[in-house]
Amino acid sequence: MSVRTEGKQSKPRVVTQPAQLAGLPGVDLAEVERVHDVFPLRISRHYLDLIEEPGDPIWLQAMPDIRELSDEGFADPLAEEADSPVPYLTHRYPDRVLLRVTDTCASYCRFCTRRWKIADPDPVPPEVIQTAIDYIRAHPEVRDVIVSGGDPLMLSDSRLEGILSDLRAIPHVEIIRIGTRVPVTLPERVTPELCDMLRRFHPLYVNTHFNHPREITPESARACGLLADAGIPLGNQSVLLKGVNDTPEVMTELVQKLLTIRVRPYYIYQADLVRGTDHFRTSVQTGLDIIRALRGHTSGLAVPHYVIDAPGGGGKIALAPDAVVSIEDGVLTLVNYAGNHYTYPSGD
Ligand SMILES: *Cc1c(COP(=O)(O)O)cnc(C)c1O
Repeated sequence: MSVRTEGKQSKPRVVTQPAQLAGLPGVDLAEVERVHDVFPLRISRHYLDLIEEPGDPIWLQAMPDIRELSDEGFADPLAEEADSPVPYLTHRYPDRVLLRVTDTCASYCRFCTRRWKIADPDPVPPEVIQTAIDYIRAHPEVRDVIVSGGDPLMLSDSRLEGILSDLRAIPHVEIIRIGTRVPVTLPERVTPELCDMLRRFHPLYVNTHFNHPREITPESARACGLLADAGIPLGNQSVLLKGVNDTPEVMTELVQKLLTIRVRPYYIYQADLVRGTDHFRTSVQTGLDIIRALRGHTSGLAVPHYVIDAPGGGGKIALAPDAVVSIEDGVLTLVNYAGNHYTYPSGD
């Protein structure tokens, strides 16, 4: 969808002001302004151009909605602050940490889990990140560092390179992961130069965030291809969102298409209890039904884990439809994807 501007030349690369949406069908500018005051509007050109009509799955993810002003939910539902020994670092699990290196993204997702702390255009002060890296250096149990944000690919190549070099210089850091939605929202940011830099920090993994098959475009496929060609295993983390991807049909198409662009579905998240996102939340049964529709019906490689990130900092807990019908008198009864029952000696 094109914003009302004079000719192609003046199309803004990113929309950050409600007035830039003036005249767009389906936009209530006064409402957008009220919401923007609380959680800012930011939509990249690439993502805006994916919108076909008001209320479609791309629109829902990007366009401020008056329902975001509801008081339901929590500012920090995952209690990331409680598990934060130093600013911008969350150490929840024994062997891995999450390091936030920026507070900004190419586009702001309206359902963002960190909507109450991101969208700050100022860079995170380098000494803050240095302190977090010092923490990792002082904790030999940390073997896996997830570089997140915000979106780490909003940093310049050289700034990101500096952070990755510091992490790679820590002997006990075995793997580094980057969490980024840039392949979806700003695919042109993924350049051969970026990939040449990243490949020097292997083993390096990238988890991206596609939520709908329409986000898989020639541009996003190219971005993922460049990363994969640099030897980076790619995973995908989707959030289950009402009206976006809450049916088995949409999710099946999404996960199958992801494999065609060399992205392995990793997680489907139940939407977190973030204040202002209640209108996106689906029932837990919806998620279980999606997994049931995938498992056995399509490539096992395409089937992600369905997880709830437990409120209050319990971490991710995977849910799956129960395959065990009964265990009785040494006989396990199982149900397969087609609904047929099979028995197997339970061994007890
Ligand atoms: C999601 C998350 C991780 C990584 O979890 P995996 O299941 O290993 O992908 C690590 N730390 C925090 C705080 C997280 O939220």
